[in-house]
Amino acid sequence: MLIDGKAIAAKIKEKAKHHCQNHHRKPRVVAIMLGENPAAESYLRMLERTCKSVDFEYTLSWFPDTLSEEALKAVIQTHNNDSNVDGIIVQMPLPPHISEEAIIMTIAPEKDLDGFHPMNAGRLFKGEKAKKPCTALAVVTILEELNIELSGKEVVVVGRSNIVGKPLAMMLLEKNATVTICHSKTQDLIKHTQRADVLIAAVGIPKFITKDMVSPKAIVIDVGMNEVEGFLIGDVDFEALEPYVHMITPVPGGVGPVTNAMLLLNLLEHYCEVDA
Ligand code: NAP
Repeated sequence: MLIDGKAIAAKIKEKAKHHCQNHHRKPRVVAIMLGENPAAESYLRMLERTCKSVDFEYTLSWFPDTLSEEALKAVIQTHNNDSNVDGIIVQMPLPPHISEEAIIMTIAPEKDLDGFHPMNAGRLFKGEKAKKPCTALAVVTILEELNIELSGKEVVVVGRSNIVGKPLAMMLLEKNATVTICHSKTQDLIKHTQRADVLIAAVGIPKFITKDMVSPKAIVIDVGMNEVEGFLIGDVDFEALEPYVHMITPVPGGVGPVTNAMLLLNLLEHYCEVDA
């Protein structure tokens, strides 16, 4: 069965829209960008469209890439202190004279829409309420929307990045799954992937997961977004796996649209707390 990420995202956006009907102001996100970067600009245009589609406010604060780290921190502090701002995104990568770590630390944890602040990472690790990285949250939300019971299931995550694999593993543990995290040094990877009830690919290598690596009963979630000759290709060999496995997400149209919708949920969380 094909998992329709667009339909799941549309359902979440519809819920987000209705959430705000009885509040005195709209949720507001501020995106901060330095210099020029076509990929980042395209991502921010998509974010703006997503916000507009649910009637949320979006503001872009653009600065030249000569802005100093201190000046950028001051801009973030202004938004931290503004009670009309519910979420802040600082578009990475930043110019080399600015420490990304220091900038992430400057964002108030409750306004950290990407869920990258160490406070949020620590809370997630402890199983406490936290802003979670949107892609990891999207994977768990897809499984929830499909009513997949994760308790006791073998879930294998291929990839251990700080923004996808690791937070995802923590969230799956909270759901009582038995989680295996694989990475580039994993020996006999196929031994792990073949026994997965749920296999999540976050590797960054096009069509890395092949048919021989999965069980036909598996639910396969493809996080990969690789641009190959102008096309977006996942980390899974979709053509081979789609007729074979129990359920699978396509690329595009799977995890990607749900990830965008998760930003709205992270934004709403702060908005509802301060504007209840
Ligand atoms: P990343 O930081 O490059 O991490 C890739 C992970 O894959 C690493 O943990 C790496 O292991 C592991 N890996 C690499 N080669 C491997 C191999 N041969 N066998 C097993 N594991 C291997 O990537 P990321 O940021 O997590 O992103 C992963 C993919 O998701 C990319 O395609 C990215 O574009 C996509 N993505 C999609 C979304 C979305 O919204 N859908 C959002 C973010 C990222 P080591 O740790 O040992 O190096």
